[in-house]
Amino acid sequence: MKTLLRPEIAELAEYRLTQYPFRIKLNQNENPYELPAEIKEEIAGRLAAARWSRYPAFVPHSEIERIAAFAGWKPDGTLLGNGSNEILQCVFTSVLERGKTVVISQPTFTLYQILARGLGARIAEVPMTGGFEFDVERIIRTANGTRASLIVLCSPNNPTGTCLTRDEVEKILNGTEGLVVLDEAYVQFSGETRVDLLNRYDRLIILQTFSKAMAAAGLRFGYGLGPPALMAQLDKMKLPYNLNIFTLMAVMTLIDRWPDIEWWIGRLIEERERVRDALAGMRGIRAHTSGANFLLFETLEKRPGEVFKALAERGILIRDVSAYPGLAQGLRVTVGTPEENDEFLKNLAEVL
Ligand code: PMP
Repeated sequence: MKTLLRPEIAELAEYRLTQYPFRIKLNQNENPYELPAEIKEEIAGRLAAARWSRYPAFVPHSEIERIAAFAGWKPDGTLLGNGSNEILQCVFTSVLERGKTVVISQPTFTLYQILARGLGARIAEVPMTGGFEFDVERIIRTANGTRASLIVLCSPNNPTGTCLTRDEVEKILNGTEGLVVLDEAYVQFSGETRVDLLNRYDRLIILQTFSKAMAAAGLRFGYGLGPPALMAQLDKMKLPYNLNIFTLMAVMTLIDRWPDIEWWIGRLIEERERVRDALAGMRGIRAHTSGANFLLFETLEKRPGEVFKALAERGILIRDVSAYPGLAQGLRVTVGTPEENDEFLKNLAEVL
């Protein structure tokens, strides 16, 4: 059976996430706040009135226009996906193959590597500096030295929380020749999108998602923003009708009601800073700053796996990221509600 598959697929390690029972879930960078019931009911009402027997529009023009306006970009440069993961897949499959190279700063979101491996592409990894900053000069040198077709940047970066400045993104764009993907999955928590750069560069694609700040991970919705001519090419590799009518309707309602719920962001940013200060004050912990809705911290005395397990046994789920390159002591915690964060901090202090 295995021999029927391309060797890259047969050799690929599975992407697994073990689910433990939990009472507090701080392991997947989700938003702890839930859409108010009246908004969900409004969406359910619209769904009940729709015809499920019919396909969605072949190109959902009015939805694309609203999302483009929400994101601050052109509708014809906006590609909608079943999660931003789908757009990532679309870009990777359109650009990479055996013999092509992608530059990835490490540590970062694991999916980039999995997709590139599965396509048989060469992966040129660039370690972050000791303080978990992007090594911009080395990214540029590596991209040029390998004649990379693709450079993937994640800002704020998962799992370190590091952000790239506008100057750094521009430096990479100006110093290289490949397509640059900037994954902004967590951008609302840093407050600084680079969407404006799309006006000046025709090799830049920005990815955003409704899974984090918009509290809609279960809906599966994300999008890519880029030069219209390039996005039209990528559109050929996207499956028709990739978004179901439920997601499209819910996303429209979320945009309508965003002014009522965007207080989430400020609250989560305040909480992130509070949790970071508390972590920084704990013995045996090195806490890092973050522009996202999660924090990277390192355990200096105990093994991170032990701390993870002790917390999981108490029903508090965080992420053990110690297998990521350069993060042997690393744990990542998502910012939750103030009550969840208090519980996490109290229990962490007890298990350290
Ligand atoms: N990019 C990054 C950096 C992420 O951390 C995640 C979620 N873990 C995604 C993309 C996936 O987002 P989506 O749910 O939109 O597919």
